[in-house]
Amino acid sequence: TDREVVTRNPATGEVLARYPTHDRAAVEEALARTHAAALVWQGTAPAQRLTLLRDIGKLLRERRDDYAALITAEMGKPVSESLAEIDKCAWNCEVVAEKAPEWLADHPVEAGRSRSWLSYEPLGVVFAVMPWNYPFWQVIRCAAGAVAAGNAVLLKHGPDVTGAALALEALFADAGAPAGLLRSVVVAAADVAEVGELIVRDPRIAAVTLTGSERAGAAVAAVAGAAIKPSVLELGGSDPFVVLADADVEAAATAAVTARFGNVGESCVAAKRFIVDEAVADAFVAAFVDRVGLLKVGDPALPSTTLGPMARPDLRAELLRQIRETVRQGATLVTGGEALEGPGYFVAPTVLDHVVPGMTAFVEETFGPAAAIVRARDDDHAVELANDTAFGLGCAVWGATEHALAVGRRIRSGALFVNSAVASDPRLPIGGTGRSGYGRELSAEGVRAFTNVRTVVVA
Ligand code: NDP
Repeated sequence: TDREVVTRNPATGEVLARYPTHDRAAVEEALARTHAAALVWQGTAPAQRLTLLRDIGKLLRERRDDYAALITAEMGKPVSESLAEIDKCAWNCEVVAEKAPEWLADHPVEAGRSRSWLSYEPLGVVFAVMPWNYPFWQVIRCAAGAVAAGNAVLLKHGPDVTGAALALEALFADAGAPAGLLRSVVVAAADVAEVGELIVRDPRIAAVTLTGSERAGAAVAAVAGAAIKPSVLELGGSDPFVVLADADVEAAATAAVTARFGNVGESCVAAKRFIVDEAVADAFVAAFVDRVGLLKVGDPALPSTTLGPMARPDLRAELLRQIRETVRQGATLVTGGEALEGPGYFVAPTVLDHVVPGMTAFVEETFGPAAAIVRARDDDHAVELANDTAFGLGCAVWGATEHALAVGRRIRSGALFVNSAVASDPRLPIGGTGRSGYGRELSAEGVRAFTNVRTVVVA
């Protein structure tokens, strides 16, 4: 029925599982449980919170094969990347456990009184609305910091990864978290706007974080704004990957393949527009296309596969529309460009050259295995092209270090990587500018996002 969530294996289209959705009474119970857990948790010693994180990290490492298989079955990324995702989740738990005492310590500020300082106090229950593209990472990224700071988490995960959502809930319980510290609500697609609004408005919810599309982010943040609750939005991107005339073209081309085709291209910080100086454009395109040709497309459960199917048929149809439109608008299709025959939601790895501003693949976020190459006359033109977007998440610039840094500083983004692809790291904040969202996750910034920064003054 439409009150059921059905998950499918994107490599075959076959049904994996059917989950009953939570009715109003079950949502109410989840709210009550997480709220009760938050009250208990905020009273626990910080050391106890960090022990929980370490135990979650240990269980993630013990169960990595099972969790990775679940990720691959539900959303189709190659299993080698699913294993890396679980390892990164465990690493994040370890980093937060080690660093949180420093990140959350009282911060003395001299203000002409006998004593004054800032303290970082828990908010309560954080409502986390998460997407399917990194089923474990998106949740752990948010929850590790939130829980370290003394909060509880109510999770509304992407329905395609309901198995992962329930596995994460069980993981917290197995690691010894108080009942309800991380709870999952399973919501039917038809109810998501209404139930989402009800949860955001509920007085037991203190803050909201959402990773996903602009549409979902705007809807949830509007309700949070009306209810006067803080929100963090991690939305899409159209990240530039800029290759300057003095770049190491071979190294850039190698990194470009991972930056675009890793995670089946379904990543907010994937490189989406390759802005290449004309002087090296032909060499870069040749080196890039050679390497794209080496991608092993196929069954994502095989360790040797490097490109799996897209997560859903509608997401594939959307990418194919973007490719078709961009070619019709005058871009050159160098390779790929079509769905692969068979039952799964595969797309041939695609490279579009001579993409210019205004074309669909330049303007819209392309969330799948399709690269857009844009040729730049010089540095100024490269900067202009890179900034010609409403998004502003990550940005990579390749070239002689100081030159690349100077160019990179002129490009608006939440993160600048020089001679490296953009990647999140638990020790560094990540987040966007413009329509990519606001707020930061990970590191001290991310942990403090879900705290009340309290000023204390003693006369
Ligand atoms: P959505 O943004 O629709 O989904 C993200 C999450 O938000 C899901 O859990 C979704 O639930 C939920 N959601 C959507 N609308 C609401 C609402 N009104 N209230 C509460 N929760 C809501 O992503 P899609 O899967 O549809 O992907 C569409 C596009 O979004 C992609 O092609 C890509 O461009 C972008 N995207 C970006 C991501 C990123 O990492 N920044 C991740 C995923 C997608 P439900 O699915 O039940 O609607």
